Amino acid sequence: MPARGAMPAEDHALQAMVRAMVLERPGTPLRDMRRPRSQPASGQVLVRVSACGVCRTDLHVVDGELTAPKLPLVPGHEIVGRVESVGHGVEAFHPGDRVGIPWLGGTCGACAYCIAGHENLCDAPQFTGYQIDGGYAEYATANADYCFALPAGYSDLAAAPLLCAGLIGYRALRMAGDVAHLGIYGFGAAAHIVAQVARQQGRSVYAFTRPGDADAQAFALALGCAWAGGSDAAPPVPLDAAIIFAPVGGLVPTALAAVRKGGVVVLGGIHMSAIPAMPYALLWGERVVRSVANLTRADAQAFLALAARTPIAIEVVPFPLSAANAALARLREGKLTGAAVLVPDVLWSD
Ligand SMILES: [Zn+2]
Ligand SMILES: [Zn+2]
Repeated sequence: MPARGAMPAEDHALQAMVRAMVLERPGTPLRDMRRPRSQPASGQVLVRVSACGVCRTDLHVVDGELTAPKLPLVPGHEIVGRVESVGHGVEAFHPGDRVGIPWLGGTCGACAYCIAGHENLCDAPQFTGYQIDGGYAEYATANADYCFALPAGYSDLAAAPLLCAGLIGYRALRMAGDVAHLGIYGFGAAAHIVAQVARQQGRSVYAFTRPGDADAQAFALALGCAWAGGSDAAPPVPLDAAIIFAPVGGLVPTALAAVRKGGVVVLGGIHMSAIPAMPYALLWGERVVRSVANLTRADAQAFLALAARTPIAIEVVPFPLSAANAALARLREGKLTGAAVLVPDVLWSD
């Protein structure tokens, strides 16, 4: 491990070219490019990436459903790596430290939301892999104040999905409240983590998949869900709350119909197709529909501490970085069991 400050970062950066998968225009495949390695500015860390999770949000960015990316853009916001060098003023991390870089990459610290402790709703946020280049690359820079140490019990591959699927999923779980019977619609990366946490908390989990997706249903049952079925099926008991991770607006009335009076339906995704008109009777009875937006750093600390205390089995489907487009295609087609994670080709071995 090099001593802090021992590395002539500037000289290295001038020469080093690093591989990155780059979005030049939404709706087009990522391009496999070599770009000069950036340097950490004041307050930043430069991280050598060892794994980066593939999140549905990346798909929404690449497909143009989220409309404010910087371009060109390196996607990816579930980044695990080692600190290579640090910028001026960084005290919390040193070269060689393992860090995680999540979706929340920067906030203004001055708006009413930031001051009230709701930095997830900041009026001028910066998100990793959206306004800041992310982890579909060999190196990434990040604001040190928004990076986290990771629990030691998780490999780099397994830790990557904790950083969005895990911690935004955990925020969604908290929004669902202290309930006994929890439904989850869409059984992908976030659901497979949330289901385990909910089980550990003593809740019964009911998993709803695409109709006929026997593999996803078997996966859900293997993780301890009480029941698994198609999203067109009724649960065996009325649900106290439901989380919808699938980006399908038509599931909102479906979930409301499955939830008891006073129950909550939490929408866990950043983008969803239009929610269809529905009879008021589905919402009547003090049922609540709410979204969950982004994360706070407090969410990340709480979830990573929980993941350290209680082991979560992370199902990973690894891809080499250069196959990022194939990984995104698999996610788009709903053909992943667990979480896709990219590994730089130089580290890839079968
Ligand atoms: Zn703010
Ligand atoms: Zn994400």
